[in-house]
Amino acid sequence: MASSLNLISEYNHEKVYFVNNDKAGLHAIIAVHSTKLGPAIGGCRLYPYANIEDALFDVLRLSRGMSHKNAAAGLPVGGAKGVIMASPADKSEALFEAFGEVVQNLGGCYYTAEDVNTTVEDMNQVLHTTQYVVGRGDVSGDPSPITAYGVFCGIKAIANKLNGTDDLHGVKIALQGLGHVGFDLAGQLHDAGADLIVATHSNRKNMAYAVEKWGAKEVTDEEIYGVECDILSPCALGATLNYTTLPQLKCRAVAGAANNQLLDDRCGELLREKGILYAPDFVINGGGVINAAQAVFTTYDRENVLKQVRGIYDSISWIVDEAVKTGVPEGIIARNFAEERINKGL
Ligand code: NAD
Repeated sequence: MASSLNLISEYNHEKVYFVNNDKAGLHAIIAVHSTKLGPAIGGCRLYPYANIEDALFDVLRLSRGMSHKNAAAGLPVGGAKGVIMASPADKSEALFEAFGEVVQNLGGCYYTAEDVNTTVEDMNQVLHTTQYVVGRGDVSGDPSPITAYGVFCGIKAIANKLNGTDDLHGVKIALQGLGHVGFDLAGQLHDAGADLIVATHSNRKNMAYAVEKWGAKEVTDEEIYGVECDILSPCALGATLNYTTLPQLKCRAVAGAANNQLLDDRCGELLREKGILYAPDFVINGGGVINAAQAVFTTYDRENVLKQVRGIYDSISWIVDEAVKTGVPEGIIARNFAEERINKGL
């Protein structure tokens, strides 16, 4: 217990709620990291955690990450996250309705959304008992294409730093993961003239399409790290840039959608030492939350969302310039910027 409280204090959370509803099979934690900028937004992850400590560690880390992501995107919202300790096979209407009741009782300080192992359909069941749900299919729609568009804008900013132009014709991009975001992004990059090298663990259909229609070169999951290219774009899972993969990199920059790409801060320093530019993940992949958050504080307007998402280009440019000027890794520059915004309540 003492170590859990230490962790909550270390991560500087405002509130952490532990939920137990045996009847509905709901065992969950909701962590509200910060509401200084506004009501907190963050998805609801469902995962068969081995124990409550693992669930707590995950929810604290993810909710703090949401505060950084939302603040860096300039949104008037804070950061939070929910985790349900269950397997996808345990999903039920009763479980999601019970989760919704808890969210409702928080009175609007936490807005939930789909996340790993939860879907828009699950959120429709959460909506039976609370109105505090974002990323709704009937309002802002699937977040993946808009996330991909934000990453595309960030990649153009990175290309400009590398080549003095953001024209992507002939720019070699190695893309890891052809899922919801990666596949959409690959299409946008191809249309802009980029040369694609791709690896994906599953989604064979998407791979066949990319190779046949976009002339992408397929490599294996292991080969993608060592591909000679301008930009490596991780769009799969977290922590793929670690002490095993970093020495293999032959790219000039890293810019992709995946959350928590770097295993730890030291990996960001290693990228700097290798002269590889890095687009911080929680800035470049902010398109989805920009899209979802709009519905909280104003009437949803697609044009306005696209305008804000295009701003990712300038954010990435500024962060890279600061990193080059100061020698501080891009991820730290972005985190400091977000924390300053939160602390000043700007
Ligand atoms: P997804 O599950 O649809 O796609 C992930 C893809 O990565 C799959 O095709 C999988 O086969 C592939 N993959 C997994 N491990 C791999 C490996 N080692 N090598 C090669 N391919 C591998 O997920 P998604 O929705 O496309 O999200 C991708 C990443 O972007 C995730 O890290 C997610 O957290 C992040 N993200 C997504 C959104 C969004 O709007 N969907 C928003 C912000 C961040």
